[in-house]
Amino acid sequence: MALLRASGPMTRGELVSTIGLSRGTVSTAVAQLVQEGWVDERPASAALSGRGRPPTLLALTQRAGVAIGVDLGRSHARVVLAHLGHEVLAEQARELGESWRATEAVDAVESLVDDVLAAAGVERAGIVGIGLGLPAPLDTSGHSTSITIPPDWVREDPAGALAQRLGVPVVVDNDANLGALAEARWGAGRRSNTLFYIKASTGIGAGLVLDGRVFRGSSGTAGEIGHFTVDEDGLVCRCGSRGCLEVRAGGPALVAQVAHSGAEIASVADLIAAARRGDLACTRVLADAGETLGVALAAVLNIVNPDRVVLGGELGAAGELVLASLRERLGRQALPSAVRSASVVQGQLGERAEALGAVLLVLTEEERFTPPSGQEPTHGRPTTAQ
Ligand SMILES: [Zn+2]
Repeated sequence: MALLRASGPMTRGELVSTIGLSRGTVSTAVAQLVQEGWVDERPASAALSGRGRPPTLLALTQRAGVAIGVDLGRSHARVVLAHLGHEVLAEQARELGESWRATEAVDAVESLVDDVLAAAGVERAGIVGIGLGLPAPLDTSGHSTSITIPPDWVREDPAGALAQRLGVPVVVDNDANLGALAEARWGAGRRSNTLFYIKASTGIGAGLVLDGRVFRGSSGTAGEIGHFTVDEDGLVCRCGSRGCLEVRAGGPALVAQVAHSGAEIASVADLIAAARRGDLACTRVLADAGETLGVALAAVLNIVNPDRVVLGGELGAAGELVLASLRERLGRQALPSAVRSASVVQGQLGERAEALGAVLLVLTEEERFTPPSGQEPTHGRPTTAQ
């Protein structure tokens, strides 16, 4: 069951080869789990299996519990509910004010969680864990180390606050790490072993997924590409450095660059829409953003040697308007062998990536979700099939 929770639906053959027990032993255990309603069998979709009879997949059922992913952005909250068989059952999003406070966010998340539970017909007791994404670097104990989230959460414990309110285990992670996890498992990074994901929105963050696991570094800071220096004489950044990638290619910087062009642009989405209509100034700003991202990514390619680079966040929606100049820059600046092995693509999950990644955190890092003290786990383990 732990393997099915982490890996998602699998064929019997995959289960046998991964567990390393005999086919007979696995079949006996599976038969018992199916009979008790923890596991069901479903045909693989024709799209996945190609021609011929589709193989049968084994997956956990809703009886095994549900996982919830929460993405708290700078001005929105999104909540996704999936059962442990890797099937999304409900999803809700809501705008928050630009400068929301922690209590406001906890209230909004609680009400969204109740909404998705009601939509899926699931009780709160069925939740095995909640993954929470925040747009801030987090240390290894889940405390924010940045001023980019509400001031009342700086150096505090957001996961603890939410866990206390909902009575469910909550684990927090940086939003770009979660976007990386989601694209690696369910999006543009499938079949990649070394994936580098960039979330380029108001801020610019990144996540690295190695063999299906997020790489966080020794203290949780890995992937903070937004503070890579692209211009030593550039403007001062909120981090105290000068000429950071974020200062040149973050959303507000891109919008500011067209201020004198006559175009009415208030957001990255406006910028992309205008470029698609043929606005020359907006097209140029996006191409320049690709170049600037390329300066930072060239270093990543040389050092990490990823096989896939996925551009997500608001800027990801620009697709080739950014990617063409980004690839061109990489071709000039990174080592040829690193450039050849990395495909640079647009994210497939869009603004849902971070919330889906938060669900995947619950599914794939089960060991981090211990119930709040004083509460017994009610789901996620059969009581009779030990
Ligand atoms: Zn900076």
